[in-house]
Amino acid sequence: MAGRFGDCRGCSPEQFGKTGLGMTEDDWGQIRETLRDMVGNNNYVTWIEKLKFVSCHNGVLEFAVKTTFMGDWVSRNFGEKIQAQSIKHGCQVDRLTFTVETDARATPRHAALSANPDAQAKSLAKPAARTTKANGDLLGAPLDRRFTFDSFVVGKPNELAHAASRRVAEGGPVTFNPLFLYGGVGLGKTHLMHAIAWELQERSPELRVVYLSAEQFMYRFIQALRDKQMMDFKELFRSVDVLMVDDVQFIAGKDSTQDEFFHTFNALVDQGKQVIISADRSPGEIDGLEDRIKSRLQWGLVVDLHPTDYELRLGILQQKVEVYRSQFQELHIADGVLEFLAHRISNNVRVLEGALTRLFAFASLVGREITLDLATESLSDILRQSDRKVTMDEIMRKTCDFYNVRMSDLLSPKRSRNIARPRQVAMYLAKQLTQRSYPEIGKRIGGRDHTTVIHAVRKIEELKAKDSQIAEDIELLRRMLEA
Ligand code: ADP
Ligand code: MG
Repeated sequence: MAGRFGDCRGCSPEQFGKTGLGMTEDDWGQIRETLRDMVGNNNYVTWIEKLKFVSCHNGVLEFAVKTTFMGDWVSRNFGEKIQAQSIKHGCQVDRLTFTVETDARATPRHAALSANPDAQAKSLAKPAARTTKANGDLLGAPLDRRFTFDSFVVGKPNELAHAASRRVAEGGPVTFNPLFLYGGVGLGKTHLMHAIAWELQERSPELRVVYLSAEQFMYRFIQALRDKQMMDFKELFRSVDVLMVDDVQFIAGKDSTQDEFFHTFNALVDQGKQVIISADRSPGEIDGLEDRIKSRLQWGLVVDLHPTDYELRLGILQQKVEVYRSQFQELHIADGVLEFLAHRISNNVRVLEGALTRLFAFASLVGREITLDLATESLSDILRQSDRKVTMDEIMRKTCDFYNVRMSDLLSPKRSRNIARPRQVAMYLAKQLTQRSYPEIGKRIGGRDHTTVIHAVRKIEELKAKDSQIAEDIELLRRMLEA
């Protein structure tokens, strides 16, 4: 095979003589520029500019990329153009290959935001001893470069969680152990945990900081059991300096994993090592978690992230716009658009970010300034969803209609199946479709205890998974309520 490509057919003798490689980095620089016109500036900045030229041997042009996804995407969407332009430039390219740079995640904090390809290439090339360490010698999960304290916008709803995270990230003597962060989806728990890890590793590179999700913890645990490596597992986890476990509600009900987690946790806390935990609800509310674990989790500092308010949402939007601006200079947003979005879009920051990303993509596709019209047009579904606030009353009424039971029965203490089930469905829907807490829902539906609601939600989730009829009914009800 090598012989076939070995002659570098298209290369000018000069290039060939100069490097013997067929294409130099300089050549690529020039080819890249011609591609800018062909693919448009946004595509160029997002995809082409980020390719790192590695080599061109025997007709094989190799790039380093940050993720497999990036390689796939470039190959699929721009592969032919790259090849054609290379050949036009006088370099024979038969094939493109993309190698994922394993240390890409380790680039310093803002490399991802940098629009300067040189700076990026440099930071990519930097050895990543510190980060591999922060990732716990493969024990933990990789950290997202974007999730730093610098990029975290602080407002009333998250200021306590932010302050506590900052304090822990300063290192030094452990003041509260564990730090337990909880709050709804998309409110910044994972972001804060990664920020702590980045900061700690910057301040104290010698610390072994391990971040992973509870699910990954379980997976490692099961693997160790299977491979009869429990001693290694225990030793490894007991030797870290800072352990962060994200979404710990995941191990509720999984008894042996819980047990192992508890022992690891205790061993670390006893040694004065910092532990940081997150969950989607408070320790007391995590059903299926052993009481001794619940109480142990509450020993430290428990702080919650509240749903975002208008100011925080606006702050986050402004910050995201800044970041995009540093990448795509020609971004124009009409006055009032961000305020409009902050007003109209829900609590979940992930949804907010998604809306903004879509808006940017839309604007760049149609080449228009981002105006209020464009926003309402391109985000109509998100806006509609956020608009529609389903009330407890509607949920109870529609559920009664659907199952043909009387409201007074739904609210009564009756426990017969034909009434208890619709009641559980109403509780489940209330949890899904409103912002109400378990106690609030219980109170509203016949003055019941929050544990009853938690049980109902669990029960319905279970039934949905097992029984497609129930799943369909609930889906139908949900759609009727959201319509
Ligand atoms: P959670 O883990 O609580 O579900 P994440 O930490 O994954 O939420 O946050 C969801 C998204 O919202 C992330 O992209 C994150 O960067 C962003 N985000 C959340 N809160 C903030 C904030 N206060 N400032 C900036 N970005 C935020
Ligand atoms: Mg998370």
